[in-house]
Amino acid sequence: MLCVMKDTWGSYSLVRTVRNKRHWQAPDRPMFVSAWNVSMRVKGRGQAMPSSGVAICADCLAVPLGENPAKVRAECACVRKASAWAVAEGKLRFKSVVRQEAAEMRKPKLRMKWGEVFTTYLENGPEDRRQRINKLRRVLEGPTGKRAEDLCIEDWTAAQVRLWAQMYQEYDRRGWTVPGAAPLDAWEQLRRVAGTLPPLDYVRMSPGNRTIQSVLGDLKSTLGNLSRGRYLLALEGRLPEIPWLSRMSLNVPAPDTRPGIEPAAYQAMWEAMPGLKETNLKAWLALRIYWVTGIRPVEQLRIREDWLEVDEEGRVLLVVRNRPALPMDQWPKLGDGSGRPDLAYEYLGKAFKLKAWRSAQVRALELPADVVAVIDQLKHPGWSIFGHQCVTHAIKLQRVVNQWIRQFVPEGAHASYLLRKNALTVRAAVEDVEAARVMAGHGDRKTTEGYYIDPKSTSRQLTDAELGPKAPARRLRMAVG
Ligand SMILES: [Zn+2]
Repeated sequence: MLCVMKDTWGSYSLVRTVRNKRHWQAPDRPMFVSAWNVSMRVKGRGQAMPSSGVAICADCLAVPLGENPAKVRAECACVRKASAWAVAEGKLRFKSVVRQEAAEMRKPKLRMKWGEVFTTYLENGPEDRRQRINKLRRVLEGPTGKRAEDLCIEDWTAAQVRLWAQMYQEYDRRGWTVPGAAPLDAWEQLRRVAGTLPPLDYVRMSPGNRTIQSVLGDLKSTLGNLSRGRYLLALEGRLPEIPWLSRMSLNVPAPDTRPGIEPAAYQAMWEAMPGLKETNLKAWLALRIYWVTGIRPVEQLRIREDWLEVDEEGRVLLVVRNRPALPMDQWPKLGDGSGRPDLAYEYLGKAFKLKAWRSAQVRALELPADVVAVIDQLKHPGWSIFGHQCVTHAIKLQRVVNQWIRQFVPEGAHASYLLRKNALTVRAAVEDVEAARVMAGHGDRKTTEGYYIDPKSTSRQLTDAELGPKAPARRLRMAVG
């Protein structure tokens, strides 16, 4: 069947391809593909079997199966024509291989060392360029133990950054984030145990996690498009893409370091509350609850009437704990006489999970009489204390509340959170951090401390005297990281 011709570009043979037996007209009359196929091997490209498009003549077709007409009828016109096509095609294919190889050779080697990036960035970068390069250097050197300048950008992986974060959490656990506490060989020690470190901790809140998040954010911007087009422009076309970096996130819980409420704004809010009670009772209630209980916005959204309990002394407590889903038969029924549960209540009937649900912190937060009186006025029997019919109403109310707060604290993105921080700060000031921790429902003290700039606490309500703008506790700095 084969008739191999060798040339500088490779080799080929003409093939009379037998068709599947199903297509044969009779068992002893084989059928062939009508044109010569060319089995060719082009140097640098491997094997292929294109059709030459040259028809196999009747005489060549008549050569019995098992004999190669290209060999036994080498001088036939059809064989010569197909051969000529094969040689021309082979040469053409080889030429494109040579061209491609040459292009590869001309292309600069895309292996760039970090040193070159550092140099360029330090020459052209923004004001904080040195800090940014140092952060990058820490992330590159921590897991590898090698000088960052000598490492290649192409070798950098998301796994390395994750390992760095793991190592940094361990660094933090060992108390080395305290200035002067880290031994000189801290990272060397960490590298020795790198393989046995616990996985990234996504549960425990820690100030060290703030560092992890901010370093990752900085890496993204230092190496992102804006920076490439501005500070690293000199490396254009050569600086490799790092596609995984922009997609990477490390959502390790970090304390909130946003500033709290300024005293003047606080005073203004305080004074505006009685007016709000006249115009929007639900908004007033929501704000008042934030204020005295420090409850989370996501929790307030879910408060059902059955979260309220009365203790032996007749105090009304708002009890926040993990709660199972309500069985459907306990949902309010549609008013159409069908007795079917009202689906509008689904969100309130769903299971409720605390943010730190594993620690199952139960908080019994006392509600003042004025709050209880308004709840009695608004609540839907057995359901939301605000009398909400569905989650849309609950969310709408939160929006109104946030807008109200923003009149006083315009830059607060999570406006209602400010009141939570405020309540926790005041509680820590009038009692202590432990009391604030219990009130907050935090799993551990460090989390709560993360809310205070100056950490110096049964859950009871904060009194109006304590919360008021003139109260001694207000002289403490408001909640900051
Ligand atoms: Zn022929």
